[in-house]
Amino acid sequence: MTGLAPEAWPVGAAVTVGLLGLAVGSFLNVVILRLPEGRSLWRPASACPGCGTALAWHDNVPVLSFLALRGRCRTCGMAISWQYPLVEIVTAAVFLLAWLELGPTVDFVVAAVFLAALVAITGIDLRHRIIPDVISLPGILAGLVASLATQRVFWLDSVLGILVGGGVFLAIVIGYGLVTGTEGMGLGDAKLGAMLGAFLGWKALLFALFVSILLGGTVASALLATGGVGRKDPIPFGPFLAAGGLAALFWGEKVVEWYLSGFGR
Ligand SMILES: [Zn+2]
Repeated sequence: MTGLAPEAWPVGAAVTVGLLGLAVGSFLNVVILRLPEGRSLWRPASACPGCGTALAWHDNVPVLSFLALRGRCRTCGMAISWQYPLVEIVTAAVFLLAWLELGPTVDFVVAAVFLAALVAITGIDLRHRIIPDVISLPGILAGLVASLATQRVFWLDSVLGILVGGGVFLAIVIGYGLVTGTEGMGLGDAKLGAMLGAFLGWKALLFALFVSILLGGTVASALLATGGVGRKDPIPFGPFLAAGGLAALFWGEKVVEWYLSGFGR
């Protein structure tokens, strides 16, 4: 039997995880496109939105088909959104990051599920301005079950994370509504906050919130300054929460411990 030499196994494993990420990203594209519209994720097969031609398997290979077709439908020539290869590449990248950090463990599987959910939520919030309950609510449960099963996060930290993550945004939604009479953040953000808390535990969640507010504030200021958005345009917060969740998954515990130890004194 021919096969990879033992010293090449880590590379082979990483390549496999990368390919898995591309394939999952390809599915997440379908989720982002169809889930908010209540369409089936399984049927019909992917088709060109321009001419309706069903895609052959060789026109549906992550990233490669986009490059081979130079970003256009083979039949009608309509431009294919660059969001498709982007979602695939981002998913592969975060899966690889999780693999390098966690290796072949149950923790990696949990992280992959968490990260896939964050990619889908980011795409859906950017595209449709909602954070779907069908991802965030089961996500809260999945995070809690993962903590009970793997104990990477102590289960009570997970429960507190749900309460803090949900509570902070609930308070913002209610407070903002009382002051302005309008809706700033939605309840979708509160449910996503609770999901982050379930997966991360309350300590890493605080880091996630810190990162997301910092990122969101920076990007919103830049967009306002450059005229990219108007003062009244709502900027979806889900993508920033997702980015904070990702940062906290990989670096949250370390940063919080370093902070609690008095900056490593
Ligand atoms: Zn077409």
